[in-house]
Amino acid sequence: MARTRQQTPAPSPVGLAAAEPADIQRLVEELDSMLSRLRLGAIREQLDGLLEEAARRQLNLREALAWLCAAEVTSKEQRRLSMAMTIARFPFVRTLEGFEFEAQPSIDPGKIRDLATCRWVANGDNMVLLGPPGVGKTHLEVALGREAVARGYTVQFTTAMELLGSLVKGQQQGSLEARLAQYSKPKLLINRCAEGCAYDELGYLPLEPQAGHLFFQLISRRYEQGSVLISSNRPVEEWDEVFGDQVVAAAILDRLMHHSHVVTIRGDSYRLREKRRAGLFRTPAGGSSSAGIGGLPPPTPAKEA
Ligand code: ADP
Ligand code: MG
Repeated sequence: MARTRQQTPAPSPVGLAAAEPADIQRLVEELDSMLSRLRLGAIREQLDGLLEEAARRQLNLREALAWLCAAEVTSKEQRRLSMAMTIARFPFVRTLEGFEFEAQPSIDPGKIRDLATCRWVANGDNMVLLGPPGVGKTHLEVALGREAVARGYTVQFTTAMELLGSLVKGQQQGSLEARLAQYSKPKLLINRCAEGCAYDELGYLPLEPQAGHLFFQLISRRYEQGSVLISSNRPVEEWDEVFGDQVVAAAILDRLMHHSHVVTIRGDSYRLREKRRAGLFRTPAGGSSSAGIGGLPPPTPAKEA
């Protein structure tokens, strides 16, 4: 036979009105389990401290109740945030506060701060981040993704490899529909680039021939419903090469770019900038930063001192 959970009978307001001191004492003894039943875990865990603080500040009953509720709301919000961050599967923590705008003068800080309000996510618009490797695209993807989570939007990070690989596998195994539905669910889908691995970004991947078609299906499904934040090392004019099909690339770009915010970053790799600062590399003589892969000059090892 199933065991029934023992629960304290809820005191009726009428009963309370006529309560004797002994009844109140009994309620106090039941307080812990009543707080558990009401799922007020933070109040239960911090009760002594909160009540002491309320007494020290000489709060009246209404103020003390508000003080307790605030502790519970804060704790629940922190738990929600931490769960949503886990679900989003960010590869690492990066924040807007940690982004050195002076290091990338081609980025308008005002535009990024405006994007951080996430109005574009609320509207189901897209965002495209373009630029050579190491200029902070993934940093901004993570930072903006975290802002979206903080504002209550569901976010999912995924690598281009993971996403397209999953869709291709889905098609082969007859589960494409389920996978498209899975990637259509979050309000914001971000293509993740593994740190230090430019090949993971859209632009360097050797794509399966059908990957472009499958990506188009996903973009169409999310069109005007949920936002996509995508980064690439390759300018959009070269995406027909990326997808290996001019018609598919045009169709993807048509939907992706219709309501979109494009941020193009020009400049040096932040990683190499740090290495140069440390004296590991020197900028080549007459060093223009617009040559080489994605506008990046090949690093020249510094001469031994
Ligand atoms: P990309 O995705 O464009 O290849 P990343 O975002 O992966 O570049 O940047 C490489 C590393 O440099 C990351 O650790 C990132 O946090 C850091 N980084 C890049 N740009 C900046 C910046 N402007 N301020 C602070 N850190 C930066
Ligand atoms: Mg990246």
